Amino acid sequence: MSISPEDLGSLFRTLLGGRRLVVVSNREPYEHSWSDEVGEVEVERPAGGLTSALDPLMQALGGTWVAWGSGEADAEAVDADHRVRVPPEDPGYTLRRVWLTHHDVHRYYLGFSNQFLWPICHLRPDLTRVRSRYWERYRRVNRRFAEAVLQEVSGSDAVVWFQDYHLALAPLLVRARRPGLTLAHFWHIPFPPYDVFRLAPQAGFLLRGMLANDLMGFHLAGFADNFLRCAAELAGAAVDMEARTATLEGHTCHVGAFPISIDVEQFRAAATAPDAEAAMERLWARYAPGGGMLGVGVDRMDYSKGIPEKLKALELLWDRYPELRGRFTFVQVAVPSRSDIAAYDELSQKVDRQVWRINERFGTSEWRPVHLLKQSLPTERLAVLYRMANVCVVSSLQDGMNLVAKEFVASQTDARGVLVLSRFAGAAEEMEGAVLVNPFDPETCALQIRDALLLPPDERERAMRGMQTGMASIYDWMESYFAAWSAHAGEASAEEGKGDAPGA
Ligand code: UDP
Repeated sequence: MSISPEDLGSLFRTLLGGRRLVVVSNREPYEHSWSDEVGEVEVERPAGGLTSALDPLMQALGGTWVAWGSGEADAEAVDADHRVRVPPEDPGYTLRRVWLTHHDVHRYYLGFSNQFLWPICHLRPDLTRVRSRYWERYRRVNRRFAEAVLQEVSGSDAVVWFQDYHLALAPLLVRARRPGLTLAHFWHIPFPPYDVFRLAPQAGFLLRGMLANDLMGFHLAGFADNFLRCAAELAGAAVDMEARTATLEGHTCHVGAFPISIDVEQFRAAATAPDAEAAMERLWARYAPGGGMLGVGVDRMDYSKGIPEKLKALELLWDRYPELRGRFTFVQVAVPSRSDIAAYDELSQKVDRQVWRINERFGTSEWRPVHLLKQSLPTERLAVLYRMANVCVVSSLQDGMNLVAKEFVASQTDARGVLVLSRFAGAAEEMEGAVLVNPFDPETCALQIRDALLLPPDERERAMRGMQTGMASIYDWMESYFAAWSAHAGEASAEEGKGDAPGA
């Protein structure tokens, strides 16, 4: 039985025991911008599963969220302490903005975070760019985030929850000044094995930053174990692999696996909204007229997603099984991402060329095999696309979880489709009922996609309903993460007899 967002608020209040919750992330939950018409300030909610799931919880708890003020009119909306109450229509909590300059964005965000940590964690050390100016700025920006946290928790007890790989150093900077705070971190991407992470020139510093947390969470047990081995070998921590703890300089960090999920109900509701049937009719007419079958792929345009590998498999599919030409159409949503980085720009061009070639090779005046949508679709449209698809192909070469796989399953209210899922996406560990594929092997992938399309309806339905029944929601994820956190936080303060530094 899944926990509801409403129940989560009261559970958290109990777990926090009077302490404030401070969430820290690179991206903010609300962005202010100038409206086109009259130059007034308006508010937008940047899309993102975690931000939209945390927002109601923060509203219920009334804590503080520290994030980069990335909106063009963000500075207009804050008070002298860089704070704004959100949501604007009915303020429930405080958003504390951290300001980044153009250089900060270039070096800390596009540089160290996305051209060093992202590729190394996705097992692509060949794509890393090691630049001292990136590292120097990453440290500086982490310090700025830590300073903002320290101001926000001044004079009060709090639980600070850091998000993701942009903020590996901030926990140590906060811990140094306020040792009594409870600190936790969730790493939303894979954590690589020792043999890969040791290639990072700053591996020791990064690990020490992360080890300052009371709880370090990853999606999978394998990532947690990788982290522990690195902590032992590269940071000199005393590690207990069984208990999943790492102790450094008298502080113990608990490490755990917490596979994230989605707001299942949101996708189910969107897929069955009153206008969903009409939307499906329109999309059938556009993409697969004459009762054909439809495949979907939904990814950011990122080299970790295996989009060229997926297209290669599809090309082989139409090549080897000509009976599927004109009968099976593929819609690939590829959201433009990090296009200032050369590897992303090259990938985007490669995907364009591949799609062009496939469409030239197999397309006719009535039928186009691949429709490439280089845009971001809202949840409502994605849910309809997921619901109507006969097959969804997730071909990640390496992926922390892959939420698209779960969104597809949640939206498949008629249980007619099949999930074809890369073995190298974290979701593969949970989704029994998916057809697991190796995207590095396009010939076998093509065969598996064909078999998925031919699967008898009762087998498809059984597999899909099985996955739907077993799927937790993002609210269950928050509950399990916080329950572990509160248990370990109790142990830690008893063991260490912690107290805040004087004058903190
Ligand atoms: N997404 C979206 N619109 C799109 C394509 C994707 O909102 O047009 C969302 C999608 O619903 C999912 C997220 O982007 O929640 C992608 O998450 P995933 O874990 O699959 O990959 P990530 O991009 O985080 O690496």
